[in-house]
Amino acid sequence: TENKLSEIKEIIEARNVELLHMQFVDLEGTLKNVTITAAQLEDAVEGKIMFDGSSIVGFSPINKSDLYLQPDLNTFAVLPWSVEEGFSEARFLCSVTNPEGTFFEGDTRNVLKKTVEKAAEQGYSISVGPELEFFLFKTDEDGRPTVKTHDVGGYFEPSPHDIGERVRLEIYRALKAMGFTIEASHHEVAEGQHEINFKYADALTAADNATTYKWVVKTVAKQFGLHASFMPKPVFGINGSGMHVNMSFFKDGQNIFFDENGPLQLSETAYQFIAGLLENVKSFAAITNPLVNSYKRLVPGYEAPCYIAWSASNRSALIRIPAKRGMATRVELRCPDPSANPYLTFAVIAAAGLDGVNRELTPVNSVNEDIFHMSGEEREERGIESLPGSLEAAVDALEAGYIGREVLGEHVFNEYVALKRSEWDSYRTAVHTWELQNYQAKF
Ligand code: GLN
Ligand code: MG
Ligand code: MG
Ligand code: MG
Repeated sequence: TENKLSEIKEIIEARNVELLHMQFVDLEGTLKNVTITAAQLEDAVEGKIMFDGSSIVGFSPINKSDLYLQPDLNTFAVLPWSVEEGFSEARFLCSVTNPEGTFFEGDTRNVLKKTVEKAAEQGYSISVGPELEFFLFKTDEDGRPTVKTHDVGGYFEPSPHDIGERVRLEIYRALKAMGFTIEASHHEVAEGQHEINFKYADALTAADNATTYKWVVKTVAKQFGLHASFMPKPVFGINGSGMHVNMSFFKDGQNIFFDENGPLQLSETAYQFIAGLLENVKSFAAITNPLVNSYKRLVPGYEAPCYIAWSASNRSALIRIPAKRGMATRVELRCPDPSANPYLTFAVIAAAGLDGVNRELTPVNSVNEDIFHMSGEEREERGIESLPGSLEAAVDALEAGYIGREVLGEHVFNEYVALKRSEWDSYRTAVHTWELQNYQAKF
């Protein structure tokens, strides 16, 4: 820490950093920010920056609202877009602590840390590579987002059809300046839809990166007068946006999902991990797919899963095994979407996989046919179940299962269920455009 701190001080000096953004996330993974001056660095590092937690979604009751921020020195980054103001700005991602210095149980970053520690007790380190898709939408005269997509490009299409290329280039530049290793960037299937891939990392770093990525993408898009949206299904009739989560377990520096002699060159542990995901996915879907809108993405025909099955190659399946082996062997879970809190998402997925490993579960056979074209009968014969069809069904399953309660802890679990119940209720009782279009004239 001493070395890291003096390194940070040098950068602050050399880059003329005047403001430090102390960032953390709320229950939904939304980025929050308190700005201090660089002169307060020492106090900040000692965890002395206080804030009022009572107005943060999912945090404290009003009688216990003083909370503190503990910056994670590894997340220090100078912002790439503040230079022309005459001084620079930097940020830290922080964990939230109680006045006594203990970890605040309502902080979802702490939830993931706990899961990581639990896996480490068994000798496992969790490696995660998320793929977050997003749309670029035009804004109106008042700067509000529209649903008009920004270009007419399609999958992997180059310019001139892909005018988002310029925006992606700037996002790339900004992320790189903040320390990301970018692996790929491309136009996605739908018009106005994009994806930029960064290198996998340990679970906590990957969740920090996903959080930073969403912020950077939105910020850069805004510089082009565009709105970047991570909403799972913003436009009916075209692909939605996913956050595929690639995960593997390492032990003693080795990827333990790889076994040269195993079926498909996968280890027994990998199969148990897959089985754990299949077993628990219904009860963690409310975390990985948190919005009313999330379930409008999980429908047949748009490369998003809706049935609980795995496959070595099939993109209609919930779980796919990308072709890479050796150190890059991994399991790809395709249901999560980018509106999910990445800290909670990676925690429940890891815990579900670990549950399969600890109980030595065996997955059902893989399904290599296109499940979307099977009849309901055929699916039933083969024991292929469906993901929850609505937020309500998902929250019911979350409450009935054990993964959520165990991983999230009482505070986050209760706040989360309450938030999602009220979200569903507000949706359920609203009168939607669809209803007016279909019923108003006829009845
Ligand atoms: N957009 C798809 C989804 O919703 C994924 C498409 C892809 O990455 N090939 O998950
Ligand atoms: Mg991808
Ligand atoms: Mg994609
Ligand atoms: Mg993928």
